[in-house]
Amino acid sequence: MGVQSAIELPAMKTSPQFIFFTDFDGTVTLQDSNDFMTDNIGYGREKRRQGNIDTLADKITFRDSFREMMDSVTKPYNECIQFLVDNIKLDPYFAEFFQWSLANNMPVVVLSSGMEPIIKALLKKLIGPDAENMQVIGNYVKARPGKSIDEEGGWQIQFHHPESGFGHDKSVTLRKYSSLPEDIRPTMFYAGDGVSDLSAARETDLLFAKKGHDLISYCARENVPFTVFEDWSSILEKCKEIAAGKTTVQEAAHEGYEAYKAGAAGVEPAANS
Ligand SMILES: [Mg+2]
Repeated sequence: MGVQSAIELPAMKTSPQFIFFTDFDGTVTLQDSNDFMTDNIGYGREKRRQGNIDTLADKITFRDSFREMMDSVTKPYNECIQFLVDNIKLDPYFAEFFQWSLANNMPVVVLSSGMEPIIKALLKKLIGPDAENMQVIGNYVKARPGKSIDEEGGWQIQFHHPESGFGHDKSVTLRKYSSLPEDIRPTMFYAGDGVSDLSAARETDLLFAKKGHDLISYCARENVPFTVFEDWSSILEKCKEIAAGKTTVQEAAHEGYEAYKAGAAGVEPAANS
């Protein structure tokens, strides 16, 4: 991939030294909005949790499990958005991180398995107009035959990569950046928490995995290096250290793995969500 392709990648416009890719649900927000809908107005927590566990154990693809979750939610789409806007909260330190990223030319790109209209509505409510500076790449929503999305049983999820078992294969976007020529390739970060992040886990220079959640169990099992975060204050601190040259992504990943081995990752495989 050459310089011309770099120009076509929106996050490369300002020739950044670093790009922060992130999951949205349960990572930027405190609750996972799709889990929240499924648990409260869909088929309920127990079935949803079993789907997560089966996805981690490779018994079902993320795409098929997620479609079942979304199919169980039949409320009109506009009511779903309002329900989430009223209930979902932002990580208490994300706004500070985001302001720092804007001031330090570190583009933030959201890579999500959720649906773009919901993510954009939540970001607008939680962050305000600056949210428009964040690129969002997710799945979409479409009307069921003969219906509109804003009527009962009227919508369904439309996957970004319908042929992939991930539904949205996050590695596709990440590889466009990681394959840039050495002299312009930025250092890439990723933050995530769960089963929707499996396609991204191996693709960046430093993976932040949320303490006590499914992504940690997966990384530990698959030997994917990671560093643990509890909230965005620890991510911000680490990014500042790396940007100032006080530590490297390699050192940070190594430290993270040591912390995990010492029991600091809060991981009880399959116990949390
Ligand atoms: Mg998540």
